[in-house]
Amino acid sequence: MKTDIEISQSAELKNISEIASSLNISDDQMDPYGKYKSKINLPFAGSKNGKLILVTSINPTAAGEGKTTLTIGLGDAFHRINKSVAIALREPSLGPVMGIKGGATGGGYAQVAPMEDINLFFTGDFPAIAEAHDTLSALIDNHIHHGNKLNIDPRTITWKRVVDINDRELRNVIVGLGGRTSGVPREDGFDITVASEIMAVLCLSEDLDDLKEKLGKILIGYNYDRQPVTVSDLGVTGALALLLKDAIKPNLVQTLEHTPAFIHGGPFANIAHGCNSILATKAAIQHADYAITEAGFGADLGGEKFLDITSEKLGKRPDAIVIVATVRALKLNGGVNKNDLDQENVDALLKGAKNLGRHIANMKQYNKPVVVAVNEFTSDTEKEINALNDYIKEQGVKPFNTTVWENGGAGAIELAEELVDVCDNNQEFKPLYNNDDDFMDKLNAIVTKIYGGNGVVLSNKAKTQLKKLVKNGWDKLPICVAKTQYSFTDNAKELGAPVDFSINVSDIQPKLGAGFIVVLTGKILTMPGLPSHPAALDMDIDNDGKITGLF
Ligand code: ADP
Ligand code: MG
Repeated sequence: MKTDIEISQSAELKNISEIASSLNISDDQMDPYGKYKSKINLPFAGSKNGKLILVTSINPTAAGEGKTTLTIGLGDAFHRINKSVAIALREPSLGPVMGIKGGATGGGYAQVAPMEDINLFFTGDFPAIAEAHDTLSALIDNHIHHGNKLNIDPRTITWKRVVDINDRELRNVIVGLGGRTSGVPREDGFDITVASEIMAVLCLSEDLDDLKEKLGKILIGYNYDRQPVTVSDLGVTGALALLLKDAIKPNLVQTLEHTPAFIHGGPFANIAHGCNSILATKAAIQHADYAITEAGFGADLGGEKFLDITSEKLGKRPDAIVIVATVRALKLNGGVNKNDLDQENVDALLKGAKNLGRHIANMKQYNKPVVVAVNEFTSDTEKEINALNDYIKEQGVKPFNTTVWENGGAGAIELAEELVDVCDNNQEFKPLYNNDDDFMDKLNAIVTKIYGGNGVVLSNKAKTQLKKLVKNGWDKLPICVAKTQYSFTDNAKELGAPVDFSINVSDIQPKLGAGFIVVLTGKILTMPGLPSHPAALDMDIDNDGKITGLF
């Protein structure tokens, strides 16, 4: 089997205007970046109201379970059965590309292209978001340096700096060293760009006006009277919006089979909501009969957040939900060592399948059709696949064996046909909670109905923060839980379907621009580090532009 980059570089892509015209997007709506990428101007001209399919998954293992790959292959399958379809995906972050996880452009014969561009700087959205974020950081410190009219207490500043590189050295820093002319010293830190609230804000904005409104509400810290200080108090909302004038437009590319894909935005799915921009999903819905989108990490994180936060803000609930599972990951959940996942082990598979079982039951609560896509690996055995299919049927949902990594769109035809059928439903969406509910009731709903836990334990810091939320009237916003992606609990090592546990809340952080409250559980890093053998060590490019090592 060829590598992803070899497959991608040997593919013949169509000019992006041809892809756009397949969606009835005219040339004057496009803002092309070369031959194969284009931004789409706002507002969109498309008037369709396509069906929306959400792709989510079981708890992932470190390698990812193939949600992106499946989403792309499924789009290709719709394309092959002659349905009008568009995919909506997140843009990859450079940190993980250079680190361990690989890119986020699918794999094998289910990829979006040109992958070397999408995985690197693409159309410059992330650099623009990082620059807007750091411009705000500089403006805050400059305000304090020049007299601090807003009376900002530097010890309460919650706005850090960002860079799109996994750089653990920058997690905690002191800024402003060097005497009178070099600013006011204070403790600071860096997050990875995808953890920036500006990323979340951009992904939840409908247009520039909405973007400005959200940017203006971002809380940067408190003054000496303990009153909140926002971006709009600093008077820099317009400047930040200006820096984002192109980044707000969704990007159109194609799959290896020429299916249109809008790739835009990429908030973290643990500390943020973890979906591509609302504008990318809207572009897909308004220009195609079927829109397929992926939510990051497992159905307990990205899935729950898509259903309870993003889809509400999008103004459209999914018509069907696909849960991606792999034999490998379920064996891992069943206790198999990660180096032995290639060996047949039906007992461990069925033990681990309880993880899938809980995700199925969880997703069914939203009252929309749920199907399972088993993303097959060549190491899966027939016995394992049959046992897993039987288990899935026992949960009352249909399993579909998909092989898009090996076969492209041909590997998910039956799944696509099923989705065409089930999307045609009038089932009324049931949210997990209402935003007006009491804050702790909302949090308990997520913990008991999705994670399967007994309840919540708040740290003293979290209790103080909760009081602050209520005092300021912020407690009616939806909740975005920051939790490990590997487990239903807040402990990454508790795999499978654990019972009898509580969720420990260390902190509660208002993200007033994004419009949600982040509840931090366990230990969540907002600046990852690189592994002992980062992918960067294997990368190269030659004088002809031939790239190696980009997976
Ligand atoms: P996720 O979106 O769930 O994080 P991805 O779709 O990005 O996962 O896939 C993670 C990695 O696994 C990618 O490198 C991809 O090429 C690879 N992969 C996915 N499905 C398969 C498969 N069926 N066989 C082999 N490799 C796969
Ligand atoms: Mg993915």
